[in-house]
Amino acid sequence: MKVDVAVVGAGPAGATTALLLARAGWQVLLLERERLPRYKVCGGGVTRKALVALPCDVGDVLECAPTRARVTVRGTSPVEIDTGAVAAWTTMRDRFDSRIVAEAFRAGAQLRDGCPVHGIADNQLFSAGETVTARVIVAADGAPSRLAAALGLLSGRRQTPAIEAEVSVAPEVLAAWQTTVLFDFAAAPGGYGWVFPKADHLSIGLCSLHQKVSGLRERALGYVATLLGEGSYQVTRLRGHLLAVGGPAGPAHRGSALLVGDAAGLADPFLGEGIAYAVQSAGLAAQTIDRFLRGEIGDLSPYSRALQQQFQREFRWADRLGRIVYRYPRATQVIAMRNRYVAQVFLGILCGEQDYASLAPALLRHPLALLGGYRSAGPLRPASSGRSFDAPAARS
Ligand SMILES: Cc1cc2nc3c(=O)[nH]c(=O)nc-3n(C[C@H](O)[C@H](O)[C@H](O)COP(=O)(O)OP(=O)(O)OC[C@H]3O[C@@H](n4cnc5c(N)ncnc54)[C@H](O)[C@@H]3O)c2cc1C
Repeated sequence: MKVDVAVVGAGPAGATTALLLARAGWQVLLLERERLPRYKVCGGGVTRKALVALPCDVGDVLECAPTRARVTVRGTSPVEIDTGAVAAWTTMRDRFDSRIVAEAFRAGAQLRDGCPVHGIADNQLFSAGETVTARVIVAADGAPSRLAAALGLLSGRRQTPAIEAEVSVAPEVLAAWQTTVLFDFAAAPGGYGWVFPKADHLSIGLCSLHQKVSGLRERALGYVATLLGEGSYQVTRLRGHLLAVGGPAGPAHRGSALLVGDAAGLADPFLGEGIAYAVQSAGLAAQTIDRFLRGEIGDLSPYSRALQQQFQREFRWADRLGRIVYRYPRATQVIAMRNRYVAQVFLGILCGEQDYASLAPALLRHPLALLGGYRSAGPLRPASSGRSFDAPAARS
């Protein structure tokens, strides 16, 4: 089979790339290993910046819209913040990803699910019983990306572990969590624990952004028990996966192939958020591929440059912040959460409202507010990027 663009992997990165290029009129084939809809290990937290970047409406697959953030260090000294706006919407990834795939299909992309790609060479992809020839190949096969390895790209990628439990709880417990997200720093070594509410259960997980951790499965079960108490809940799924937190450490293209999303190492190294960056990188990739197929540029190198430009600084700052917070969690809490001004900026980061790269300038821009932050009162609101946005309604 011959197409203009073959995209491997139907997560947010691959599905969005396929959608944008199909809309631009190119012949696109999307190949996915699993049968869709497929379960995906993920907290399913969708920030404002992800929704702003998405080229289609996903309002119907968003489940909760929590407006309270509970920030703690190993479960102690919790700070409860009413953000006054949605901290992050939550979703189940089978429905979320399928929603974007359906949109790509509607725009004209062809879909092959249950179709693992086994190999890549020049402009060809090899899957069971078939060879696909494409003018451009997009590797969107997540972390760890076999295609990135086969292309010899991003060998220095950092990949760290995360684990997520889907937990059924009593209706009153579910109701109590519907409007709240929990970030529990240092609940896992070099990382944090979270609770994200879903329509009919809780997503509870642990991740480590800065080191390899053994026994994460046992730790996660222990963490759920500590949070919910013995016997009053049921863990219906417990699965781990890698976070691709390396950032754009080198070229993300080779010949006529390029990497998007987790395959390009684009989960942020402070929180492990990856959906927004997967979608943003898909936008950059689609722009470059469109220009390449039209003959306006001779190769795909503008994509690698655009990726560096958009993400390198941002990821460097996220990494710096992570190194401080995960090394000195308690000191960070005292400094950050007891100072209203700092807490506001920090909260903006947790909610995806504040860029990492503008964190230090934001703190230093108003030294008086910084100094006065320990005494000021009033409601906490996340520091905003100022981008306008029509917030979708969630189902529950
Ligand atoms: C435990 C955990 C919790 C997380 N929580 C959040 C969160 O709350 N919010 C957030 O923003 N991010 C979160 N992330 C990160 C987020 O899940 C990823 O960054 C995001 O899924 C990246 O999207 P992607 O499209 O690049 O890759 P993926 O979503 O991983 O999609 C890759 C797709 O490629 C397919 N594939 C793989 N190999 C092949 C092959 N050989 N042939 C064909 N298809 C193939 C896979 O089946 C998959 O469907 C979390 C990650 C983990 C591990």
